[in-house]
Order: sequence, then structure tokens, then C-alpha cells
Amino acid sequence: PPEVACIALAKTFPGGTEAVRPLDLSFAAGQTTALVGPSGCGKSTVLRLVAGLESPSAGRIEIAGAPPAETLRRAGLSVAFQDPSLLPWRSVRGNIELALGLARRPVEAGEVDQLIRLVGLDGFAETRPAELSGGMRQRAAIARALATRPGLLLLDEPFGAVDELTRRQLAQDLPRIWEARGTTTLLVTHSVTEAVALSDRVIVLSPRPAEVVADIAIDLPRP
Ligand code: ADP
Ligand code: ADP
Repeated sequence: PPEVACIALAKTFPGGTEAVRPLDLSFAAGQTTALVGPSGCGKSTVLRLVAGLESPSAGRIEIAGAPPAETLRRAGLSVAFQDPSLLPWRSVRGNIELALGLARRPVEAGEVDQLIRLVGLDGFAETRPAELSGGMRQRAAIARALATRPGLLLLDEPFGAVDELTRRQLAQDLPRIWEARGTTTLLVTHSVTEAVALSDRVIVLSPRPAEVVADIAIDLPRP
């Protein structure tokens, strides 16, 4: 899995909002790092920059020591953002299978059902997004993000609408999967509890423009 480095990374949006001011961060290969901080401090922007959805105003991102595009083609990138962006005319299964097709990954028998079960959507495999609750749609997006077995997984408030019980279950299951696969995971959240439950390391940012105010290694025994 790749290491991710943000080097003097900065982003000012047209209009003048300094969303990220020169920031140095690095995320260890095969680990889960959470970015925590108040709303509007620039967490999503950092993630979108890493994903290549925005371009930096200054500084750069290196993934496994190279520009993102090169590494990501090899290692694979998945995102699950707050807005699950599922294709409306495809079922949960159809959305996951499409992602697998685009990643040119052969599907192992039972694999898609296993993912659907993991996120607690058994019984909804053939359901379309419009007939799911917001939390269920987010869970479908998480299943889709895991399906392609990405080297780098970017999650932005992926559980915002997920109910408390399912969230707890996911907080148990997901770190195990990431560890087993050696996925490098970046999680953006405003919840310190969620960050601690899911991550190996928590980076706390100050209000915008953000500086790192704490950088904490988490060593929880995982059941
Ligand atoms: P967070 O994820 O920590 O809530 P964001 O990264 O979403 O913060 O936003 C950081 C700041 O940048 C906010 O003030 C937000 O309004 C602004 N911002 C984010 N995206 C854009 C955009 N596309 N255009 C202009 N301003 C933006
Ligand atoms: P978050 O939950 O991370 O704080 P936001 O509500 O800040 O999310 O942003 C949601 C989306 O809206 C993001 O894609 C961000 O780029 C965009 N956005 C946020 N603030 C602005 C803004 N002031 N102008 C334009 N787009 C924005």
C-alpha cells in the first residue's frame, strides 16, 4: 500500500477562501489516519486534493513518492464521501458490480453478497438507492468503496447518516478489513470518538486556516 505525503499543501478557492494554508502531513502506508477538526477547517479539501478532485494552489501531494496519478493507477483509489453518489438506476448490487467492472477486477463468487452483508444491507441487494434511507445509501457506498480492494481508501464523513448500532458494528469490522488488506485509509470526521474507534492515528486540526494541534497514536486492542 502507498504512503501519502502532503508537502506545503495549500488551497485557496477562487473568491479568496484560504481553505488550506501550507500544511505538511504524511499518512503511513497500510495505516488508518483520521483527520479531525471543526467544520470548515479544510478537512474535506485536503481529502479532495489527495483524491485529485481539486488541484493545489501551492505545494504538492506524493503518493508512494510519486505524483498521485501514477501511483493510483497501480494501487487503486476508492472514495466514500458524505454524499454517497450511487447511480440511481442501479441496485445496490448493480452499483458494486459496476465499480468492480470499472476497476477491471474479476468478481469472486459470493464476494459482492459478503460485502452487502458486511454493511448490513442483506435483503436490499436488488433495491435501488431511491428506496433506501440516507444511512443505507452511505453503507452501500462503503461496500462499493471496499469492493475494488483499493490500496488507498478516502472516507469523508462516511457515517453521517448511519444509525448508531450499524455504526458500532462497522467500527468493529472495518479496521479488521483494512488491516487484513493493508489498506492505507484516510478518514475525515468531526467525531473524535469515531476517529479513535477506527484509526491508528488521529490528527487534530485547528479552525481554518488549519494547523495541526495534536497528532496522536492510537493503540487500541481490536477484538
Ligand atoms: P471541512 O471539511 O473541514 O468542513 P472544507 O474543506 O469543506 O472544510 O472547507 C474549508 C473551507 O473552504 C470552508 O470555508 C468552505 O466553505 C470553503 N470551501 C470548500 N470548498 C469550496 C469551494 N469549492 N469553493 C469555495 N470555497 C470552498
Ligand atoms: P463538510 O461536511 O465536509 O463540511 P461542506 O458542507 O463544507 O462539507 O462541503 C460540501 C461540498 O460543498 C464540498 O464538495 C465542498 O467543496 C463544497 N463547498 C463547501 N463550501 C463551499 C463554498 N463556500 N462554495 C462552493 N462550494 C463549497
